[in-house]
Amino acid sequence: MDRYAVFGNPIAHSLSPAIHALFAKAEGETIDYRAIEIPAGRFMIFAQRFFDEGGRGANVTLPYKVNAFHWAGVRSARAELAGAANFLMKRGGNIEADNTDGAGLVADLTMNLGEDLRGKRLLLFGAGGAARGVIAPLLALEPRSLVVANRTAERARDLARQFAAHGAIESSALDGVPPGAFDIVINATSGGTRGEALSLPPQVFGPDTLAYDMAYGASARSFAAQAQARGARASDGLGMLVEQAAESYLLWRGKRPATRPVLEDLRARLA
Ligand code: NDP
Repeated sequence: MDRYAVFGNPIAHSLSPAIHALFAKAEGETIDYRAIEIPAGRFMIFAQRFFDEGGRGANVTLPYKVNAFHWAGVRSARAELAGAANFLMKRGGNIEADNTDGAGLVADLTMNLGEDLRGKRLLLFGAGGAARGVIAPLLALEPRSLVVANRTAERARDLARQFAAHGAIESSALDGVPPGAFDIVINATSGGTRGEALSLPPQVFGPDTLAYDMAYGASARSFAAQAQARGARASDGLGMLVEQAAESYLLWRGKRPATRPVLEDLRARLA
């Protein structure tokens, strides 16, 4: 049976094994996909052993996306732009790294939520690994502007500089966001996962805003509540998770599974 895994720490609550089991079932395939918790400082040893023992591919989540990127022998252009990898695959004796987070976000926004980003004003909160991975795919959809705002303003500035050639991108501090409501506000900060309230400028949300949190479940509630208080629609990042998984399945196995039934199944389980 073809073996796959998701590497991370902590990893016990990862939905990836359930998502890939549902994909495989729908495709009439049998795969072995497990969550593997890797102790701090031991990424290379665990990853090497997994592939030496016949593993075909792996997803990678916090805190190992940068380790995976550097460890792989071959890196896709998307991974190079993100500086991080959430995807590994053994092919022809090489370990290849890719980053499917941006494709996952774009698929969720455009296919599941029906958003057309062309000409829109986008605001991205956060300048960590997830933000870095989605900037180029967002700019490729030709929004009017993309503002990256971060608690540590310097990190937002660095990202805006790095991606300047990809489209209309600017940066700001959290208290210096340009005025007016945005069409789409994306939360790529991790505070919600630790139960920290985000102090966001409320005027970024309006009745026509889509407020999209990359987090899901309880972690996404505070951001959604702030947006909904200003009349905005809110979405969590469960769709992004499922779509990035579908991209992984496609790269590993040559078929992109249908995502809608899997998303509905997960929503029912989490409800
Ligand atoms: P990182 O640790 O790399 O970055 C964290 C970011 O959050 C930084 O910009 C940091 O700001 C900011 N931040 C943290 N706490 C606060 C706070 N209290 N107030 C304001 N800003 C804060 O994390 P990632 O980029 O990897 O992940 C970000 C989020 O995206 C997580 O919730 C993660 O679960 C989610 N995610 C979801 C995916 C999906 O498929 N749905 C895929 C990938 C990520 P500073 O620079 O100032 O420290």
